[in-house]
Amino acid sequence: MKLANPIEVAPGLYQVHAVAARVTVLAAERSALLIDAGGNGSAGFILSGLEALGIRPEQVSVIAVTHYHPDHVGGLERLVAGTNARVAAHRLDAGFIDGSKPRPDPYRNRIVAGVTRPVVTALYGRAASVDIRLEDGEALPFEEEVRVVHTPGHTPGSICLLIPGKGVLVVGDAMQFRFGRLGPPSEAVTADVRQAHESLAKLLQLDFDTICFSHYQPLRANGRRELELLVERLPAARA
Ligand SMILES: [Zn+2]
Ligand SMILES: [Zn+2]
Repeated sequence: MKLANPIEVAPGLYQVHAVAARVTVLAAERSALLIDAGGNGSAGFILSGLEALGIRPEQVSVIAVTHYHPDHVGGLERLVAGTNARVAAHRLDAGFIDGSKPRPDPYRNRIVAGVTRPVVTALYGRAASVDIRLEDGEALPFEEEVRVVHTPGHTPGSICLLIPGKGVLVVGDAMQFRFGRLGPPSEAVTADVRQAHESLAKLLQLDFDTICFSHYQPLRANGRRELELLVERLPAARA
C-alpha cells in the first residue's frame, strides 16, 4: 500500500491523506488523537501514516468525528478494529454514525442525491459505535486539551475542535479554503446554510491562528482574522 505521506501542520500535529478526506493526527507524549476517519477504505492509509510518524496503533486513544458524512466516518469501523480507540462524536450526529438512525444523503438536491447514491453508499462503509457523546464546550478525554465547539449547520451535530496549546482550530467541513480564500461550507452538502453561517460567527469568540480543514491545505497563519473577514461577507451577518 502507498504510504500516506503525512504533512506537519505544527509540532505534534499532522494531516494524513485518507480516502476522499484528510485525517488530522494530534500526537501527545503517550497517546494520539485522530480527528475523522476518511471514507471507507481509509484505515490502511491512516495506519501507514501513523507508522510513518512513529505512532503505534494502540497509542491512538480517541477518534473524534467532526460530523457523520461518509468521507469522515467510512473508515471508522476498521480504524477502531486496528487501534482499539474510543469514538467520540456530537450527540446529534451519533445516531447517524452508529447506525441507529438511517444515514441521510449529504446532497440536498434530490436529483443529485439520486445520482451520487452509489458512491455515497460505498464511501459510508459499515456503521461504528460511538463511545463518547459530545456536548458543546467540553474537553475531549485526551492527554492534551482539545475543546469541542458545536457548530451546527453543515450537519446538526457538526463540531470544530480547538487545540489551545497549538493555536489550532480543526473545522472539518465547516469552512472551505479554495484557491487561498476562506469560504463558508459548500451549500450543496450543507443541511442548514443559515445556521452554518451563524456557527462561523460563533467561532470568532475563540483564539486560534491556524485552521485545519478536511479537504484543503491548512491555513497556517492569521486564521482568526481571515474568518473575521469571511463572516463580514456572509449574508446572515448583514441581516
Ligand atoms: Zn461534510
Ligand atoms: Zn467532507
